[in-house]
Amino acid sequence: MTYQPGFLPLSKIERNKLGIRQFDIILVTGDAYVDHPSFGTALIGRILWDAGFTVGIISQPDWITAADFTVLGKPRLFFGISSGNVDSLVNNFTPNLKRRSDDVYSPGGIPKRPDRATIVYTNRVHELFPDTPIVIGGIEASLRRFAHYDYWQDRVRQSILADAPADLLIFGMGERQVVEIARRLACGETISSLRDVRGTVFGMEIAEWRSKRPEGIIELPGFTEVALDKISYARAFALHYYEQDTVRGRTIAQSHPKTVVIQNPPALPLSTEELDHIYDLPYSRRAHPSYTERVPALESVQFSVTSHRGCFGACSFCALTHHQGRIIQSRSTESIIREVTRMTRMPEFKGIVQDVGGPTANMYCLSCSLWEKYGVCRDKHCSPLCKTLKTSHSDQVELLKKLREIPGVKKVFIGSGIRYDLALADDSGYLEMIGYHHVSGHLKVAPEHVTKKVTEIMNKPGREVFNRFCERFETLQQGKKRRQYLLPYFMSGHPGCSITDMIELAIYIRDHQLYTEQVQDFTPTPMSVSTCMYCTGLNPFTLEPVHVPKGIEKKIQRALMQYRDPRNRQLIIEGLKAAGRMDLIGNGRKFLIPADDRDTNQYVLKHHKNEKRK
Ligand code: SF4
Repeated sequence: MTYQPGFLPLSKIERNKLGIRQFDIILVTGDAYVDHPSFGTALIGRILWDAGFTVGIISQPDWITAADFTVLGKPRLFFGISSGNVDSLVNNFTPNLKRRSDDVYSPGGIPKRPDRATIVYTNRVHELFPDTPIVIGGIEASLRRFAHYDYWQDRVRQSILADAPADLLIFGMGERQVVEIARRLACGETISSLRDVRGTVFGMEIAEWRSKRPEGIIELPGFTEVALDKISYARAFALHYYEQDTVRGRTIAQSHPKTVVIQNPPALPLSTEELDHIYDLPYSRRAHPSYTERVPALESVQFSVTSHRGCFGACSFCALTHHQGRIIQSRSTESIIREVTRMTRMPEFKGIVQDVGGPTANMYCLSCSLWEKYGVCRDKHCSPLCKTLKTSHSDQVELLKKLREIPGVKKVFIGSGIRYDLALADDSGYLEMIGYHHVSGHLKVAPEHVTKKVTEIMNKPGREVFNRFCERFETLQQGKKRRQYLLPYFMSGHPGCSITDMIELAIYIRDHQLYTEQVQDFTPTPMSVSTCMYCTGLNPFTLEPVHVPKGIEKKIQRALMQYRDPRNRQLIIEGLKAAGRMDLIGNGRKFLIPADDRDTNQYVLKHHKNEKRK
């Protein structure tokens, strides 16, 4: 392993101390620099350093003046720019489009990230260093790589590569791509010649596209077409969705008024050895010492471990399929043990491993025998019903057992959500074991809804599977001194969901005593299947119409999930009236809200007391 500094340099002083005159690469990010593998800039910086390149970081620059962008000088190879760990609009606004007053990725939680950070930073760097190549990446660039619906402007925007003066865009997890780009530039290739790097997108002049259009490219309906026509948008979405597979994905092009955006096939998945190597790099797991205030986002992940990447669940409202993909890439047990052992040597570690997981906790080491040769099925969703899918959680059981035995470890928690249909299909005692050792009172599960129509459109298992899981979970609690509870997540306002569906969900929550104050209201974030439905009112795979709750209906749906909150009374009454369900207003447990306004507060208090007693 190449020598790495304790922290990657943020300043000229640190650069000079390391004896570096000019950095090879400078990374610009909207996040604070936290040297932890769950912060993208730290991970990419460490990997580049490991590959033999010197890397400086410009974190949360003031984009109004030039000073912050010029502080580290000009890099020898390229600038790598990202908005940070999250899309800047998702980060800066609530789902109701109110500006947030804090930013968990910033020291002291003080917001310092501009809206559309990738575009803002790229423009600034391009003005100041017009001859230096710029590569953009991270979740914001990755999920805005084609023409896409933007909820914050309520319109279809161009690919971010048509808006930002960048030379290349890295999509998905970027380790392979960024190292290949750095190596090839270092060997003398020019950035404009790098048109064959898997997992990247580049722009081509329209004249060149017309004269040399390469063979075998999937051409999407262009920006102008998808911005005006919903059917074209839905078709374009389905076409690029199908091509996101690492094995069978092909090159895709989409024309824009001033450029043609071309996406190469996705990067190949990392092997276990490659993943192990990335997580074995010497992250300090701390925020850079120059910060005088804590970075809130570090607190929940400082002692968490990523065991795998990818998720084959493909929930419609999640864009992970377009970023990490559906194929699971798992680390070895030994590598995870090494990481936890390193944590135990940190004075801040109190013996608690906060989480061991990935996008879905219980997909570690699960795989389908078809993935390596054929990729994931194009028209079918991976589920325990597939005979070729390995559903035994034995590797996870073994891993967790070994982590519990590491000296200095008192508890190992699973904080990520689990996929309950997979847990039900397991025969290795996973559920029993996590209930006993790895859950601190509540196990997170995400049924999201209960009506068939909505769970199908969300691509979630149906109500009957969730009911079976609840029964099994309840059986496991019998005779226990310290029982565990399920913490289910439900969602309102999803495309395909009507007020009648939400009433059915509210009744289900009431009858199964699953009421929670936490509500997820659907937000159309870039590049998810559900966002495509929200924008077009169509299912992109069938082109069938989908009902899209908006405006007052969306508010009513949200209120129905929080039926105990007296502030929601008027909205709920409107919803019940619209659905012809005024029979649900009355006094007693079989009603949703009390008959008399004056009873509301009494009713809420009584139910809160009952809940506490339970
Ligand atoms: S067979 Fe099933 S598990 Fe395997 S890739 Fe196809 S859908 Fe996924």
